[in-house]
Amino acid sequence: MSQTLAIIKPDAVGSGKAGKILAHLEDVGFTVKALRLTTLSREQAGAFYAVHEGRPFYDELVHFMMSGPVIPMVLEADDAVARLRETIGATDPAEAAEGTVRKLYAESKGRNAIHASDSDENAAQEIAFFFSRHERLGL
Ligand code: GDP
Repeated sequence: MSQTLAIIKPDAVGSGKAGKILAHLEDVGFTVKALRLTTLSREQAGAFYAVHEGRPFYDELVHFMMSGPVIPMVLEADDAVARLRETIGATDPAEAAEGTVRKLYAESKGRNAIHASDSDENAAQEIAFFFSRHERLGL
């Protein structure tokens, strides 16, 4: 078993799709190990996406991520990182495979419903960004 981080983004929380997305993730086999609803500050949103600083969409991305509540969660499964990336689909919903979370629930490439860590290393960092050791491991 391994862990990854998902965030249900402000577009999906704001349009009442969080429950459907969570059910989808559970249905494909993820176990929710930690979860909360929070609203990111500019500093938090900027820090979380610091890897994209300087890209043309960075300011829009930070503004979007602080525009309303988000639901970060730790998900556990075999090969969790790869499995969640497959479950959410391509960044742009127009290019996402049928049945993926982004195909089903995303509005656009920017407002794309869900974040998922893209490597085990980033998953560990991103989980620690939102959750204490006690929250993520139950210890
Ligand atoms: P992801 O790993 O599939 O989320 O995609 P990336 O790591 O490439 O980008 C991070 C996030 O930045 C995406 O999920 C989008 O919300 C946003 N993003 C990426 N490319 C664009 C773009 O061209 N325009 C806008 N507005 N947002 C983008």
